[in-house]
Amino acid sequence: MVQSVVVLGSTGSIGRSALAVLRENRERFRLLGLAAGSNMRLLTDQVTEFGPEAVAVKSRQDARELAQRFPRLKTLHGNEGLEEIASLPGADCVIAAVNGTDGLQAAFATVRLKRRLCLANKETLVVAGDLITHEAAARGAEIIPIDSEQSAIFQCLAPGSARHLRRVILTASGGPFFKERRRDFASITVQEALAHPTWSMGRKITIDSATLMNKALEVIEARHLFALRPQQIEVVIHPQSVVHSLVEFIDSSVLAQLGIPDMRLPILYSLSHPQRLPGSCHSLDLAALGRLEFFPVDHERFPSIRMAHDVLRQGKDAGAVFNAANEVAVEHFLAGRIPFPAIFTTVARMLEDWDFRPPAGLDDVLASVAKAREKTVEFIKKEVRR
Ligand code: MG
Repeated sequence: MVQSVVVLGSTGSIGRSALAVLRENRERFRLLGLAAGSNMRLLTDQVTEFGPEAVAVKSRQDARELAQRFPRLKTLHGNEGLEEIASLPGADCVIAAVNGTDGLQAAFATVRLKRRLCLANKETLVVAGDLITHEAAARGAEIIPIDSEQSAIFQCLAPGSARHLRRVILTASGGPFFKERRRDFASITVQEALAHPTWSMGRKITIDSATLMNKALEVIEARHLFALRPQQIEVVIHPQSVVHSLVEFIDSSVLAQLGIPDMRLPILYSLSHPQRLPGSCHSLDLAALGRLEFFPVDHERFPSIRMAHDVLRQGKDAGAVFNAANEVAVEHFLAGRIPFPAIFTTVARMLEDWDFRPPAGLDDVLASVAKAREKTVEFIKKEVRR
């Protein structure tokens, strides 16, 4: 049976890989709708190639231009447009790969309509994990992770085996500064921080890899996806990005999922689960690799993982504050306004000063996000900016 798929964030790194997966499996999947930000050139190519029924973009102006160019295409815009695309009648799966918290309502709409949410967007679970997992459980909707580490854990858990879990071990590439043990972090330039050793990704997530904030967000994600206690989630540095993560059961048996670093693999699995489909990723050649290396996290230099555990112990809106503070700090670092280590101090300070409250719904979450962003900007202006 052909599955109808919606891709949110189709012009980003994950979105392009998702369309590559659909292109390679046309007999299985049909692209029903897509949403993008403002990369109109690529979006136009995608619409021409896949002929979706509907498209959502950020601005009204871009939506108008698309409508003129493709008269039979349903065009939408703004956050409501994103939500409407996710709610298109007939959609089976929604691939959520929008950056940041913009995709929050669309993710909720997907779950509410009992569609499969193939989740690449980290913020959804970091910011609103309790709300969306409760909603998914209440509706009987599936959330299948695309993030390579979460996909690995998901793939290692046979049905019913989660209750025998002792811990999960997330692997982290360590980013570009892992090997420079004596490097003064204050001298790190934007260019250096953007040079990721193994994965090719967007700018924000590449900086998050360099700070291990990306792994910290994944610690929070894992807690919600697999209903874990904070102390059950560990991180190990694995620069080759071949072992995508591991699970250990109560009998000390450890399972891992391996593969070359290629996002098409977890994307395809999120769509095909519980089946598997032939993929076009290269096979893993272990003998050519020779060995796999693992190292402990240096929590003194990279305090991100500890902050994530604090966030989990705190609960309430701590995830929203953590994520918002980091987003703002990274924006300022990328703009050359604050030094690299100020990302850590800024996020730590925001968590210290916050008056935590449990969100009753999505509106509360978004209010916490907006307020935390505002406070972080203020803090940077007053105390960090150079
Ligand atoms: Mg990841």
